[in-house]
Amino acid sequence: MVVGDASLDIDTLVIGAGPGGYVAAIRAAQLGQSVLIVDKSELGGVCLNRGCIPSKALISAAHQYESALHGEAFGISAENVKVDFSKTQEFKNGVVKKMTGGVAGLLKGNKVEVFNGECMFINENEARVFNDHESPRYRFKNAIIATGSRPIELKPFPFGGRILSSTEALNLPEVPKSMIVIGGGYIGAELGQMYSKFGAKVTIIEGLDTVLPGFDKDMTSLVAKNMKKTGIEIVTGAKAESAEQTDKDVTVKYSVNGESKEVTADYLLVTVGRRPNTDGELGLDLIGVDVDERGFVKVDHQGRTSIPQIFAIGDIVSGLALAHKASYEGKVAAEAIAGQPSVVDYKCMPAVVFTDPECSSVGYTEKEAKEKGHKVKAGKFPYAGNGRAVSLNHAEGFVKIVADEESGLVLGCQIVGLEASNLIAELGLAIEMGATLEDLALTIHAHPTLGEIVMEAAELVMGHPIHIISR
Ligand SMILES: Cc1cc2nc3c(=O)[nH]c(=O)nc-3n(C[C@H](O)[C@H](O)[C@H](O)COP(=O)(O)OP(=O)(O)OC[C@H]3O[C@@H](n4cnc5c(N)ncnc54)[C@H](O)[C@@H]3O)c2cc1C
Repeated sequence: MVVGDASLDIDTLVIGAGPGGYVAAIRAAQLGQSVLIVDKSELGGVCLNRGCIPSKALISAAHQYESALHGEAFGISAENVKVDFSKTQEFKNGVVKKMTGGVAGLLKGNKVEVFNGECMFINENEARVFNDHESPRYRFKNAIIATGSRPIELKPFPFGGRILSSTEALNLPEVPKSMIVIGGGYIGAELGQMYSKFGAKVTIIEGLDTVLPGFDKDMTSLVAKNMKKTGIEIVTGAKAESAEQTDKDVTVKYSVNGESKEVTADYLLVTVGRRPNTDGELGLDLIGVDVDERGFVKVDHQGRTSIPQIFAIGDIVSGLALAHKASYEGKVAAEAIAGQPSVVDYKCMPAVVFTDPECSSVGYTEKEAKEKGHKVKAGKFPYAGNGRAVSLNHAEGFVKIVADEESGLVLGCQIVGLEASNLIAELGLAIEMGATLEDLALTIHAHPTLGEIVMEAAELVMGHPIHIISR
């Protein structure tokens, strides 16, 4: 602690420069606040450095490789298709560098002051930021905490050596021959399938009865079917018990229905969830910010914590741990600080998984809509009835639309199939705008595009689709 130093004054202090923090900082600056953003690591947070962006870069590379290997249906064959994984990693690192450089430029362009170091609250209106060289102290009018999350480490599977968290799994220098994944949530499923596409023998061990347990069974069964077809072994209802590693491999003992089994592979990737970064040096307990029993900061509908001038956003508050949720909450908090009447409304928060096929969802599922008291009509239009999907040789999947039976209001949508991640945006807008099935059906969609599946799904639920026989 430095004694006797004076505090510098700022309007808003943002702690953490992930998709929550940097977006909040930019919006706060746009609204006229003087802003300091602090991050002890790289700008861009988990998403840009160790999450969304690097994983999608590697997944794109894996798709590229798969297309080169399997062009038979199009009459294309290639010999000697090889992967130089060090170049793949170079590509991925280049993408990360470009994107984090972009964040630095945006912060600078918006006159946000950046401090590379750690942050620690001194009291409700002051914080010290420090690194090896300096440790200035700031008095803030408002603060936004966006310190994000880290992988959960299970006692029997301590990270290190051949036991990897997602961070190390994104940075392997070569494609492993084999990999075990404990946890079939979206991170495990995406990374496991990526390495499988590059040729690794992958085994996924999942405690529940399906991979991607947050999604509808009819979606996840398509993903599981595709995974199995390409050689991924999925063990569900399994309890992973212990791991033993040598300098060559790692063996995991697990049980299914009380029966003990084991599997050995080059690496073990543990993706069983993420823990909020609300413990440690930050000093939330010192200043009395209320945190629940799982470590999530308690906030109101504007992101305000138990201390009115301190806000919390992103992975450290409950809800989906997704980048776009963090950014959305960041804008709301910055606007609330500026006195605007912004509040969070999670009705149209999409969830996307970049598996093959992709899964996406927004609004209510059929079950949720019924639980909310709606009389529901719903229907699935298959990719197989769409010319673009067939011409892309990706005719598996469906768009399911859930609507209110009487008003025709669109309540939710679930998509599994090619570009599900992009198609879901139209449905988010539809729900946000209070659109009906008719609005979707009357919107002219260009032909031939995957977007037409949305239009036809709406017509299907209305009872008169063109490219499928309606019964
Ligand atoms: C492998 C993987 C893939 C993912 N893919 C997707 C995806 O495709 N789509 C999606 O929406 N989400 C994805 N996510 C989730 C996404 O990365 C997170 O939801 C998102 O990064 C959360 O943003 P955040 O701003 O809350 O925090 P973070 O991105 O975690 O950033 C927090 C920042 O705070 C800093 N910090 C922490 N403590 C302090 C301190 N005391 N002082 C100073 N700085 C501090 C950290 O250094 C970090 O940079 C993925 C995550 C992983 C791990």
